[in-house]
Amino acid sequence: GTPPLYLGIDFGTSGARYALIDEHGAIHSEGKRAYCAPVGDAAGWASSWRAALFQLLADVPPAHRPSVSSISIDGTSATALIVDSETGELLGGPFLYNEGFPDALPAVESVAPANHTVCSPTSTLCKLVSWWAASGGAAAGAAVLMHQSDWLLWLLHGRPGGVSDYNSALKVGYDPELGAYPGWLTSQPYSRMLPAAVRPPGAPVAALRDDVRSQYGKRSYYVLVVDFLRTALCALEPLTASRRFLLPAEVNQEQLNCEQVTSLGSTLAIKLVSRVHVADARFGVYSHRLDDVWLVGGASNTGGAVLRQLFTDDQLAALSEHIDPAVPSPLDYYPLPKKGERFPVSDPDMMPRLQPRPGSDAEYLHGILESIARIEAKGYSLLKELGATAVEEVFTAGGGAQNDRWTAIRERVLGVASGRPSRLRRPMELHC
Ligand code: ADP
Repeated sequence: GTPPLYLGIDFGTSGARYALIDEHGAIHSEGKRAYCAPVGDAAGWASSWRAALFQLLADVPPAHRPSVSSISIDGTSATALIVDSETGELLGGPFLYNEGFPDALPAVESVAPANHTVCSPTSTLCKLVSWWAASGGAAAGAAVLMHQSDWLLWLLHGRPGGVSDYNSALKVGYDPELGAYPGWLTSQPYSRMLPAAVRPPGAPVAALRDDVRSQYGKRSYYVLVVDFLRTALCALEPLTASRRFLLPAEVNQEQLNCEQVTSLGSTLAIKLVSRVHVADARFGVYSHRLDDVWLVGGASNTGGAVLRQLFTDDQLAALSEHIDPAVPSPLDYYPLPKKGERFPVSDPDMMPRLQPRPGSDAEYLHGILESIARIEAKGYSLLKELGATAVEEVFTAGGGAQNDRWTAIRERVLGVASGRPSRLRRPMELHC
């Protein structure tokens, strides 16, 4: 028959998109849907996501549907809901990735190890604890915390109890080194609301519900929890969900040992592959597990958003032509779009520093690009100080990757070869 196709769906902040790929990574069909604006309450988000999910399934061309052998979904990290997994009733949330619950922080800090990833007001655990406290600890037996992607997958497979993957579950306190929830977490009364099964990314979860299958496809395809690195590599590479879907396969230690990916998008994000697990909540640094290695990351508030406040993309391209990247700029800035920095310096009160502004815009831009490169270098040093494996090669993604002069400045400041991602990754083995 026809070769199997794999459906990957990425739920971003403003919309969702799908890509249908074959085992070589070739895209056979793709599309996207914006969320309908949720009206008023938070619950509106859940129905918008659900609507987008089923719209996208309906968008897959009927001719391809019989070939779809698996579905994977990713969402935004630390976006979660409380659901009655027997009735499907939404009991709490959705709590969005960037929503903070500082009220729960003292309780979380009192049980978690110092500087643990959960010790941040936006962590999934703070969301769970805040909801638990507000409900008086009276949650019914079937109340389960689901990450956004867990929930969307659950709409497709309907398996009770909650199924997640260890990258999604990181910010709720799951320990991917241990392969379990740690004791300090399981001893808490709210721990019975944690997803009962936490699988490796890409592991088969369950077959598609009969009603969904009869409506959208013929094969009895599996639903997968797949790589969820939305805030990790996913946010970095301007790639479709399908290529993200391929990422776990790329975990070939020899190839990945010494790689870093820097995203020069609206913010500056650094991810690197390390043999050592690294985490420090003070700097928002944490590690996603990729089989036997770790994807360590941190994100600075500097980046393209500052450039966009000052110049259009056309101006950036034109002004960059006048920069000699071999000459270090003496201008020492700390470009931020607004007050506050987290990584590589943790200082919520840090003010943007973009003065003195020289008469020449090209010199000004040179100083800004050079300053961002210094922040990138400092970020890399911090990750190394915290224990990450040294990097030999840096790949670049995001809007800033197209700027050759900036790349040359970064090569000088970082002292490593800087290239753009070129390889397409081999898809992982699928067990369907
Ligand atoms: P996002 O993180 O929002 O997805 P993108 O990856 O699309 O961002 O990158 C957009 C950013 O790239 C903008 O902030 C813009 O200032 C920056 N950018 C665009 N062109 C250039 C350029 N030639 N040099 C440096 N930065 C650029």
